[in-house]
Amino acid sequence: MIVMKFGGTSIGNAQRIQAVAKIVASWQKTRPVVVVVSAMNKVTDLLVASAESAAKKKRTSMNRNLKQLRRLHLEAISGLGLTKPHEQALLEVINVKFEELEQLLSSVYIIGELSPRALDAILCHGERLSIHLVTEAIRQAGLKAEALEASSFIRTTDQFGAARPLLEESEKLAKKAIMPLLKRSVTPVVTGYIGSTSDGIITTLGRGGSDYSATILGYCLGAEEVWIWTDVDGVMTADPAVVKQAHTLRRLSYNEAAELSYFGAKVLHPLTMVPAALKQIPILIKNSFNPKAPGTKISEQISRNSHSGKAIATIGDLSLITVQGKGMIGVPGVAAKVFGAIAAQNINVLFISQASSEYNISFVVAADDGQRAVRILQETFEPEVKLKLIETVRLEEKLAILAVVGEGMRGHPGIAGKIFSALGNSGVNIIAIAQGSSERNISLVIKQANTKKAVNSIHQEFHLAKP
Ligand code: ASP
Ligand code: MG
Repeated sequence: MIVMKFGGTSIGNAQRIQAVAKIVASWQKTRPVVVVVSAMNKVTDLLVASAESAAKKKRTSMNRNLKQLRRLHLEAISGLGLTKPHEQALLEVINVKFEELEQLLSSVYIIGELSPRALDAILCHGERLSIHLVTEAIRQAGLKAEALEASSFIRTTDQFGAARPLLEESEKLAKKAIMPLLKRSVTPVVTGYIGSTSDGIITTLGRGGSDYSATILGYCLGAEEVWIWTDVDGVMTADPAVVKQAHTLRRLSYNEAAELSYFGAKVLHPLTMVPAALKQIPILIKNSFNPKAPGTKISEQISRNSHSGKAIATIGDLSLITVQGKGMIGVPGVAAKVFGAIAAQNINVLFISQASSEYNISFVVAADDGQRAVRILQETFEPEVKLKLIETVRLEEKLAILAVVGEGMRGHPGIAGKIFSALGNSGVNIIAIAQGSSERNISLVIKQANTKKAVNSIHQEFHLAKP
C-alpha cells in the first residue's frame, strides 16, 4: 500500500483535482492507495487572514476573505462537471463546513481574541473542505472513495499550531479506521495537517504539515512507500531561480532531506522524515504536473561515493547577534544565560557559533526577531556590562545562511577548504561558520546580497551541474 499526499497547488482548481484523481486511479490498479490532501492552494493563508481580521474586529476584511474562500471552492466544484445529484450532495457538505467556519469566526470576532487553540479550529477547515472535492473527483474517475478527517485517528500533543503526533495511539486508531476501507477497495481521502488531542480537541501540525501527516499515516499503516506529490520534479541541488544549472537529485538520505528542508529547500516539512525513518519507509517526491518525471527518492540508503556536497540551501532575512567580552572566557553558564533569555522570548535560533577562545558567542535569528533579541540580552547582561565583563551585544542585519549538505562530506578532508576557496575566489566574505559533528552540513553566514554569487560558486566548485 502507498500513501500519496497531494499539496495545495496539486489540487489548486477543478482541472488539477481531476488530474489527481487520474493519478490515483492509475496507481490504484496495482496496489491500494491512501490519499492525503492539504487545503487548496491559498486557502490556509486566507483562513489565517480571516481569523486575524476577526480578532481585530475588522468585519469587512473578514467577510471579504470568507467570500473568496467560498468562491474558490464553489468554482472548483462547478468545474468538476459532476452529475447534478453528486454536485448537490457535495455542495451540501461544503455548506455545512462553511457554516461551522463562520460560527467560529463570529465567536473570535465577538471575543476579539484569537488563541492558538481557536486558530487551529479555524485553520483545519481548509483540509476539511478539500477532502470532499478530491473524494468526489476520485469517485468520478470510477473508484470507490471516502473522505476522512484525521482528527479521529491522528492523536497529538496539545501544542496548538505545532502539535506532535503520539505514534502508538495513532497507529491503533488509524489501522482501525482505514484498514476496513482498503479491504473493501475503498480509497480513503484523508485530511493532512490536522489531528486531535486525546480530549478530541482539533490540533494542527504547523504550516506545511500535511507532508508530515503523510509519513505519520505511512508509519501507522505500515505503508510500502509514501509519495509526496508536489509542483516540482523533486529536491534540487540548489534553487533553480538562483542557479541556472541546478537539477533534480535522484536520491537523498533521510538526514540529507531533513537538513535541506531545515535550511530552506521548501519541498518538504522538516519533520516529514521522522516517522518514515523510524520504519524505514522510503519517501518519493513526485511532480503532479509532470507525473512521468522519476522524482527524488528519500531513504536510508546513502550514496557516499561522491565525497562532496550534494546540495545547497539558503535562508535569507536573518540577523546575527554577537555577545562579546573577556569576562566570558572560562566562565560556565554564559551560553545558558544567553540562550535561556532568548528562549524565554520564544525566539527561534537557527545557527550558533562560539570560537574556542570563548571571547564571543554568535547566533542567528530571523530579521524580525533581531532587535528584540538584542534588547533582551542588553537587559539580561546589564550587570556584566557595568563590570566590563561583557563589552558588546552587537546586531548585524541583512544576512543569509548558506548550507552545503551531503552525507559524502563526512570523514572526508578538504570539503570546507573547497567551499572557502570557492567563496574567496568570488569575493564573498564569510561572517560565521558552523559544522555539526554529523559533518553532513556545513553552514555559513554571509551577506544576503552575496547569496547568488556564493551559491553559484559552490555549485560550480562541487561540479553539481548535471553531468
Ligand atoms: N494547508 C496547510 C498549510 O498551508 C498544510 C499544508 O499545506 O501542508 O500550511
Ligand atoms: Mg506543502
